[in-house]
Amino acid sequence: MRYEAVIGLEVHAQLLTKTKIFCTCSTAFGAPPNTNTCPVCLGFPGALPVLNREAAIMASKAALALGCKLNPVSIFARKNYFYPDLPKGYQISQFDRPLAEHGSITIGSNGSSKQVRIKRVHMEEDAGKSIHDGFADSSRYSYIDLNRSGTPLIEIVSEPDLHSPDETHDYLTRMKVILEYLEVCDGNMEEGSLRCDANVSVRLAGESKLGIKTELKNLNSFRFLKNALEYEISRQIQVLEEGGAVVQETRLWNTAEHRTVSMRSKEEAHDYRYFPEPDLPPLVIDNAWESEIRASMPELPDAKRARFISQYGLPEYDASVLTTSRALADFFEETVSLCQSAKAASNWIMGDLLRDLKEFNRTIGESPVRPRAIADLIRLIESGEISGKMGKDVFEAMFRERKSPQEVIAERGLKQITDLGTLERIIREIVAANAKTYEQYKSGKKAALGFFVGQVMKATQGQANPQLVNELLRKILDA
Ligand code: ADP
Ligand code: MG
Ligand code: ZN
Repeated sequence: MRYEAVIGLEVHAQLLTKTKIFCTCSTAFGAPPNTNTCPVCLGFPGALPVLNREAAIMASKAALALGCKLNPVSIFARKNYFYPDLPKGYQISQFDRPLAEHGSITIGSNGSSKQVRIKRVHMEEDAGKSIHDGFADSSRYSYIDLNRSGTPLIEIVSEPDLHSPDETHDYLTRMKVILEYLEVCDGNMEEGSLRCDANVSVRLAGESKLGIKTELKNLNSFRFLKNALEYEISRQIQVLEEGGAVVQETRLWNTAEHRTVSMRSKEEAHDYRYFPEPDLPPLVIDNAWESEIRASMPELPDAKRARFISQYGLPEYDASVLTTSRALADFFEETVSLCQSAKAASNWIMGDLLRDLKEFNRTIGESPVRPRAIADLIRLIESGEISGKMGKDVFEAMFRERKSPQEVIAERGLKQITDLGTLERIIREIVAANAKTYEQYKSGKKAALGFFVGQVMKATQGQANPQLVNELLRKILDA
């Protein structure tokens, strides 16, 4: 490990407002092309933008949750460049006075956690979409859909504090979960509502000066991000090892060829000629408004995880898994409120439930097993009505047949046998039928106990209470 990788992320998150950032057009996905448009988001001359208050609130929530300080005054700026799907010839963004600065996200687990600093969070509008759609009359056509033009975005820029693809994956996952908790972004990378560019450089281990970076684009899944980073880090190391120099440039991840390819070099980089947007007043967020925004924020993942550990006595691992989404955390808490057994609830939810949901590709919201049913199942096991082992089969039936545990138990006659008289009779029959094994036990071969337990469970189709069987067997065999 002679080299150290240095990574900084620029993440764009689409805000879940109903309408666009500077006009009242709908942000709904999937409408016919160019129907969610008006003079403002089509960039007609003279049309005036008005800031969507809800977008400012959502952006502020995200910034505060990422530990940033809100700037009391932030300024919108024009970022000038030409692109066919950018009708005004500039994008309204923020430049030297962003919405918020100086935040951080904690990554890793308690044993080895670290802070990744966030440089800034700013607001901006999205561009439209170009659709390159095959051939007609043997000439190629491209189409422009401006429905997305003016969709509110936040850009979240990290400091170069990440040092491996795994850390980067962790950082982006935490950010995604925070945004989802806040309900300000749906976090869908495949659909483009969460997009990320990665800046990467390498340097000799121990060196404090940063190396020359490349910027990676087209990373629209966690897997592509990781693959692209791994590829790019080893590519840069190889360039340096061969005595060359890394060229500062933008590179695209080519999924098919599994490598990054140069898109444009620094020389071709844009000069955006930023200047303050004259059509929008500065965004002023005073203390009163900030407090109001803070008060409307839900409990965040880190706080919830800590509370799950202290309030329910859960191991850190359980608390981390159960807080990966608000819906899952709520599901867990509802279950505990109905059965009072936190660790049992955690085990059923993290184990059987999440496994089945994954197998059937369902979200927790679509789970056929509800908290009430899991709580009932836990109480039936705790009261000895069924064994833990039977519980596993009952759960499978609950999930597949959408039934309550009581229904499954009744239908299959699954009640655990706890009646001492019945168990004793069965045991005596089995001992009598296996005289040879009984002799072996008596002559000191205590392992024969296991054989008898197995026989009793077999004879009762697994319905005997295993603890009682053990106790009774010992009593009868040792008598
Ligand atoms: P640019 O002006 O090229 O966009 P910025 O300074 O704004 O560069 O940084 C953009 C992103 O690149 C940030 O996330 C930052 O942390 C990261 N970054 C900056 N320098 C480096 C470097 N040498 N290696 C890796 N990442 C870097
Ligand atoms: Mg950049
Ligand atoms: Zn519009």
